[in-house]
Amino acid sequence: MEVGVLDIQGDVSEHTSILEDIGVRVKRIRRVADLETISGIVIPGGESTVIGSIMLQRGISKSILERNIPVMGTCAGLILISKSVEGKPGALPLLDISIKRNGYGSQRESFETDLTIKGVGKFRGVFIRAPKIIRVKSGEVLSSYDGEAVMVSGGKHLGLTFHPEIYGDPRIHKLFLDGL
Ligand code: GLN
Repeated sequence: MEVGVLDIQGDVSEHTSILEDIGVRVKRIRRVADLETISGIVIPGGESTVIGSIMLQRGISKSILERNIPVMGTCAGLILISKSVEGKPGALPLLDISIKRNGYGSQRESFETDLTIKGVGKFRGVFIRAPKIIRVKSGEVLSSYDGEAVMVSGGKHLGLTFHPEIYGDPRIHKLFLDGL
């Protein structure tokens, strides 16, 4: 199986090495033609405005939608795949959830905590200027923190407000791959 990592900006190499450690072939996605052979794609955390505008400009988001490619979006990647980001759709609106960017505010812009994730177990969650999931309209909440959803699945898509790649723990990536 070959899996893509969107290579525009953000934690591209961290996601690539976790996937390679699991043993799947990884393709770095920079343009539409790169999407041809992949079974799923990871959109890393970074800066959602930058990643989103380049995806739109290059037609990558449109092509992912047309080809029905399953997406795992983390942090900025989750913002992009949300249907409502402060009232507007993300660049690749796949998950029926509402998001507030930088929702944990300046006091707790970055923090870590132990999460319990359905199908995974205990997992160290690293939140970096994380978005907050305000509402889950459809899909399944796989993990919550402080009473709010932090990981949601919808069909084959997976969205996380935190970074799963920081400590090299492959279990969330495996969960995504198992669903493909
Ligand atoms: N705050 C960033 C944004 O709005 C996301 C941060 C991250 O991906 N770590 O795009």
